[in-house]
Amino acid sequence: MSHKILIIEDEERIARFLELELQHEGYMVEKAYDGRTGLEKALEKDISLIVLDVMLPGLNGMEVCRRIRQSSEIPIIMLTAKDATMDKVMGLDTGADDYVGKPFAIEELLARIRAALKRKNIPSKKSSQVLLVNGLRLDLDKHTASYGNTPIELTKKEFDFLHYLMENKNMVLTRDQILERVWGYSYFGDTNVVDVYIRYLRSKIDSRFKKKFIHTVRGVGYILKDE
Ligand code: CA
Repeated sequence: MSHKILIIEDEERIARFLELELQHEGYMVEKAYDGRTGLEKALEKDISLIVLDVMLPGLNGMEVCRRIRQSSEIPIIMLTAKDATMDKVMGLDTGADDYVGKPFAIEELLARIRAALKRKNIPSKKSSQVLLVNGLRLDLDKHTASYGNTPIELTKKEFDFLHYLMENKNMVLTRDQILERVWGYSYFGDTNVVDVYIRYLRSKIDSRFKKKFIHTVRGVGYILKDE
């Protein structure tokens, strides 16, 4: 069965272009031209993935994304203004899976859609699993993190990132390895996102608990040490 993709984009010309390209690739397509309609359609059962523009009338893309995430883990790819780093970071922080800067190359967007759908189809591990490193505790079933008795609130990507670091404790992980694993493919040379997320994790963990967990290995990557 082919996937149905929802496009939320107020520029009808772009929405139509995307629709044709996606149909050409064998996807079914649903469109919405404003945030509110988009949000309603997003919660319909047969949608597999959402392409979401940031700049929308009424309810903007960030808000739409945040609200979808309150009840759904559906893959969301955001369309952001070109080089608007703030948009990218905020988009990922509100729970988007990925972003593509406008104007985008259709091949790039299609590659990201395929990657996101592939990640979605990987069945989650059934075994009950808890990772412990240096007092940091990650419960993979409950999807919770804590240090001692203090819960740590993490976004989905932060959780995945920390999971990867903890799984490979005491091993240096390169930015490329992290991108490949946490984001699903190499990020077209854009490894900034790794550093941004390292900052998020450090502020939520290292700074908060006044202990150094994540170490930088200059010129190589990062390591979570179990000491
Ligand atoms: Ca727009």
